[in-house]
Amino acid sequence: MSFTELGLSDEIVRAVAEQGYSAPTPIQSQAIPAVLLGGDLLAGAQTGTGKTAGFTLPILQRLKGGKPAARGTVRALILTPTRELAAQVEESVRTYGKYLKLRSAVIFGGVGINPQIDLLRKGVDILVATPGRLLDHIQQGTVSLANIEILVLDEADRMLDMGFIRDIRRILALLPQQRQNLLFSATFSDEIKELADGLLNSPAMIEV
Ligand code: AMP
Repeated sequence: MSFTELGLSDEIVRAVAEQGYSAPTPIQSQAIPAVLLGGDLLAGAQTGTGKTAGFTLPILQRLKGGKPAARGTVRALILTPTRELAAQVEESVRTYGKYLKLRSAVIFGGVGINPQIDLLRKGVDILVATPGRLLDHIQQGTVSLANIEILVLDEADRMLDMGFIRDIRRILALLPQQRQNLLFSATFSDEIKELADGLLNSPAMIEV
């Protein structure tokens, strides 16, 4: 199947083709249609499988038709365990979304907070963040999560290994009830299963 047949629009397919991708990877073939349907997803996938495009492409597709993010709000939130992964994921969003008019941003700790505040104030359609710095912004009132339509926990097992469970639970408590949840993890410990059980509603399940 081609990216077009999976349900992605021409602008997105063009950006993907420019990356030299000739066909979707197995995780993409399964995740893209599932995410486009709007339901929750539980995905078992290692890095290197193309999982990032597996969630960023359908998120771009879902958001491109809607109203842009209002000032100080976010439409899709992608949480990652590390700064490096956050930066990579946001770079992918930018690359695949280059022909769309969606605003993305990345926020993580260890760098100045003021440039991030300026970005958040404008409104962000797709925000990639590490949990700790996102909570700093929430505490300062520089971002509202009340309009989140889609939540992604990327490398959820690593987030738990790094001790982020309390931060994640604090963030989850601030999200609107009505939203789409995607959880990606390479491994499935009891702790991950418990998190997934509480977070996901009748999720589609894929494993590669
Ligand atoms: P990820 O598993 O998301 O970290 O992606 C691993 C690598 O695969 C990245 O360098 C992507 O650019 C690349 N990639 C993602 N999707 C495809 C595809 N459909 N065809 C070829 N390469 C891809």
